[in-house]
Amino acid sequence: MGLDDYKGISEAGELRAIEYMADKLRGRSFLHVNSTATGGGVAELMQRIIPLIRELGIDAKWKVIKGNKQFFEVTKRIHNSLQGQVGPLTDKMWDTYEKVNKKNGDKMDLDADCVFIHDPQPAMLIEQKKRGIWVWRCHIDISTPDKVMWYLLKDQVKKYDAAIFSVASFAQSLPMPQYMIPPSIDPFSDKNIDLSEAEIDEVFERFKIPRDKPILLQVSRFDPFKDPIGVIESFKMVKKYYDCTLVLAGGTADDDPEGERILADVMEAADGVEDLHILSLPPFSDKEINALQRGATIVIQKSTREGFGLVVAEALWKNKPVIAGDVGGIPLQVIDGVTGHLVHSVEGCAVRIRQLLQDPIKARNMGIMGREHIRRNYLITGHIRKYLALWLSMENPGQDVINL
Ligand code: UDP
Repeated sequence: MGLDDYKGISEAGELRAIEYMADKLRGRSFLHVNSTATGGGVAELMQRIIPLIRELGIDAKWKVIKGNKQFFEVTKRIHNSLQGQVGPLTDKMWDTYEKVNKKNGDKMDLDADCVFIHDPQPAMLIEQKKRGIWVWRCHIDISTPDKVMWYLLKDQVKKYDAAIFSVASFAQSLPMPQYMIPPSIDPFSDKNIDLSEAEIDEVFERFKIPRDKPILLQVSRFDPFKDPIGVIESFKMVKKYYDCTLVLAGGTADDDPEGERILADVMEAADGVEDLHILSLPPFSDKEINALQRGATIVIQKSTREGFGLVVAEALWKNKPVIAGDVGGIPLQVIDGVTGHLVHSVEGCAVRIRQLLQDPIKARNMGIMGREHIRRNYLITGHIRKYLALWLSMENPGQDVINL
């Protein structure tokens, strides 16, 4: 895939701006580090963004830190407390966090002109900075962090040259510049590329999900903040009035040890509920997720905390109305009453599902608006434009490189 392939999809001005900046950055090195190669939004973004930046002639690389189960238990706890869940972190846990970061840093070649460290897991790599611009790219919702946890992490974060958050309200009191850059989807990825009806049918048949009733779908890692049990509760309320099917599809991520336990809780909550399909998907189920999203009548994302919620963008891009929690980056995408509905409770979610099931024309129009909203604001090209603009403006302070 090259930039030219996006002509006719992305705005022409956006593509020109990328070419202009890539010209200035050709041959320079751009390193990204995160904590998982598969599963979750960050890995999804990397898989698409890095090759496209390389196509522009910039030496972009993606590296993944290694850690054992104990390390990822600790980092999930850090992640959860940054998203507001109170949970003590012992000295021993912090020690594990520090040591695994140090070990990774000792082994990795971190030499680059611009380095983006994604999320808290590898944040301590900053200790190994020798040169270049180092940016902490935070994808999670840290609008109301556990104060002790943030106090500890902030000591590391403030050593970076800049920070990026997906949503303005996640910004924190920090001594360096902070930028708001939301994530994006790639219309050409297996997750989003157009599929034929036959391909969609094949996936539903394979999962043994009949398509004779309207289908509600939530695609998410099995994570408490995605509230899968709340979705089941809403579904049970809707089901009393409207015959429909619910699909909860999700997998686990290498850096998320909670998945199995939450999946077991979900199975228990699903016991005896009719027309409910729970799919535990292996990594690289992109085509399957694409087909499920395209076959859905309404997509749900009942998160109670959310960094951005790439699944929302994916669904809107496929002309699906989305009913979703009013948290994190979701309201950037779900414009209430226009591209879907924002909800605040199990009951509210159920009411909105019933309303949209009863009004397919409204649902259809919301889907159309949704796709256009994503096209204008949340495609991969806009994301790359903002990354390059940030890099250039950090290297040329005071100069109007290009409007972020
Ligand atoms: N996803 C996936 N398999 C799954 C569940 C999710 O490939 O079993 C993908 C999903 O399609 C989306 C990303 O992982 O592209 C999830 O990103 P999001 O921002 O919604 O949530 P996160 O998991 O990063 O909290």
